[in-house]
Amino acid sequence: MADEPKKKVVALLSGGLDSQLAVKMMQKEGFEVSAVAIKTPFCDFDCGRGCGFEIRERADDLNVNLKTVYLGDEYIEMLKHPKHGFGAGMNPCIDCRAMMFDAAKKHMEEIGAEFIISGEVVGQRPMSQHRPALKTIEKESGLEGKILRPLSARLLPPTDAEKSGLIKRENLGMIRGRTRRAQLDMAKEFGIENPPNAGGGCLLTDPAFGLRAKDLFNHVETPTTNDIDLLKIGRHFRLDKKTKLIVGRNHDENNMINALALPKDIVLEAKDHVGPTSLLRGDTCSEFKQLAASVTLRYADASDCEIHTVKIRQNTLESEITAESAKEETYIKYRI
Ligand code: SF4
Repeated sequence: MADEPKKKVVALLSGGLDSQLAVKMMQKEGFEVSAVAIKTPFCDFDCGRGCGFEIRERADDLNVNLKTVYLGDEYIEMLKHPKHGFGAGMNPCIDCRAMMFDAAKKHMEEIGAEFIISGEVVGQRPMSQHRPALKTIEKESGLEGKILRPLSARLLPPTDAEKSGLIKRENLGMIRGRTRRAQLDMAKEFGIENPPNAGGGCLLTDPAFGLRAKDLFNHVETPTTNDIDLLKIGRHFRLDKKTKLIVGRNHDENNMINALALPKDIVLEAKDHVGPTSLLRGDTCSEFKQLAASVTLRYADASDCEIHTVKIRQNTLESEITAESAKEETYIKYRI
């Protein structure tokens, strides 16, 4: 007689150790696991913060199908007014997780999976991984009883899968808190080599990035992904309610600024000196050309107290202006 097909589950895969262990536990229990990885404008698995890099390789190592879902405009919309507020930075973890589970739910329904798993550990993250928050996330994503957190399941109310006998509760974990000792032991048991370091959350948890993001959302009704990509590079200065200046800090950032410049933006560079590419963005940007030129010279290899030339470009129009290197006290008040 042919073997019965394996029951399916969907895993929210971040690429971190905990979600890999959750997958391994389910495979051990005889389930076929299909993974969903979520990208947002603030987490592209590639920022080097350890939460989700090498996601494709992780999925291959785990021998699971991987579906990547990008939450773009809807994520930005949510970030304007997250129902459950922000964490210590500008991280709307509860709303964010609810959106991620909602995406996983769609995949679960598409492939006829039984439930969803994630690597969440009770008490590991301050905002989204305590019991009430986990409950809220389930409710918001319409998945009450359908999310199993294998690493901590025995510390949480039984899910539908446990109640119906699809999975035995005694085979699930009781891990709590931030120490990773139990997970590292499990990694060894499951043969996971070079387990990744604990992820630090996405860019929105970074205090400096959070300040820049708050400033953007306070001044622009609906920021674009281009606006958000600019937040990831350079020094930022809020010049007035409508305009800001971004000054590159190295060659790569200068290239990025050039690549992100839009037709209305003003791009500045010192003509005869190595230095930053700067960008003025906003409705009043032409009023700030002189200041931006001086600040650009301040971060360039140009001597003080002399007049230098700065090249200016706006779309296809190119021109030059002269300026002196700015004194720090004249512009530092604008720094975000
Ligand atoms: S740290 Fe960032 S990606 Fe992770 S749940 Fe919070 S907001 Fe979402």
